Amino acid sequence: MSSEKIRSILANRDWSIPNIVELLATDEEGEKLLFEEAKRIKKEHVGNKVYFRGLIEFSNICAKDCYYCGIRRSNQHVSRYNLTDAEIIDAVKFAHENRYGSVVLQGGEISSPAFTRRITNLLRQIMDISNNELGITLSLGEQPEEVYQEWRAAGASRYLLRIESANPDLYYKIHPKNELHSWERRLEALKSLQRAGYQTGTGVMIALPFQSLEDLAHDILFMRDFDIDMVGMGPYIEHHDTPLYQHRHGLLPLTERFNLALRMIAILRVVMKDINIASATALQAIDPMGREKAIRIGANVIMPNVTPGMYRNNYNLYENKPCTDEEASDCSNCLDIRIGLTGDEIGYNERGDSLHFANRKRCTTLGKNI
Ligand code: SAM
Repeated sequence: MSSEKIRSILANRDWSIPNIVELLATDEEGEKLLFEEAKRIKKEHVGNKVYFRGLIEFSNICAKDCYYCGIRRSNQHVSRYNLTDAEIIDAVKFAHENRYGSVVLQGGEISSPAFTRRITNLLRQIMDISNNELGITLSLGEQPEEVYQEWRAAGASRYLLRIESANPDLYYKIHPKNELHSWERRLEALKSLQRAGYQTGTGVMIALPFQSLEDLAHDILFMRDFDIDMVGMGPYIEHHDTPLYQHRHGLLPLTERFNLALRMIAILRVVMKDINIASATALQAIDPMGREKAIRIGANVIMPNVTPGMYRNNYNLYENKPCTDEEASDCSNCLDIRIGLTGDEIGYNERGDSLHFANRKRCTTLGKNI
């Protein structure tokens, strides 16, 4: 019965909220149909290449106080660090020499003229040392539009800013409600990124306390209606030094959170055929082969951590964060083998830009309505 319904939703591409909830809650047989369709669409629309983005978590200093995050400002049990420019550039060189097509600069949220200048200079250096070859993604939170423009002009072409939840009520249950944590401001920041010409990425946490399947269905439609180019989303994992930890008893078991995250990825691939979908590190925190499982059913981007090993323990957003005791070269070797097992191939030296972004631009140029 359920399989018939799933088959019909997928065939008719009827993405109503009840239908997406049906996909999220389906039984094993329905899940198989969903995953098969997501695999088929991935192959047809983005091919079977996985693109590497070398992830540099360059600082855990953060002005924000998100209730779920281990590096929130109020957590006194974190040893704060800030990589030097030379350490960041070394990590970039590692990624480039190992033929990763792109790097991601991620950090806690800081906003100041000095910080803006620092990132601008780093972007210019990265463009320089890679002969303008590396794709650069930033994930540095909400910034004024002119800052986004400055960084875009200095060489960043993609920006990842998770909306965290498309439901403002849920957003305010997992963040303080103040100027620094405003859902409306986050939404405006996403619009600024689109106007500044970035391949714009967003995402949500899956299986949060207070979150319903309807919320997740709305998240999928938010991403579609916002016309995003790339997504990074993964399961919520609790951290004992955060306010949300007190709600851990109501959470789904980890394996169910993991399965729900896979279904979200598969549904998004079916709904938004040509976007880039990153296989989130949080998947690997639950299942050692988690990222590879996501690659099999729709994801096409992996972000191997190239942060120097000695700092990784201090970028603990959640518990059991994987690879914190490794160096970048360990990650690189094991990923080669792991991706091989999925049947996909690695797009070495390829930037792997979002096809959705390119297709959207082409349609706009031709004056078509998409
Ligand atoms: N400051 C930047 C920003 O706000 O976009 C980037 C850094 S922030 C730590 C990166 C992402 O980590 C957040 O968007 C959030 O979704 C995710 N994250 C934080 N705590 C998490 C947790 N406990 N479980 C899963 N993901 C988490």
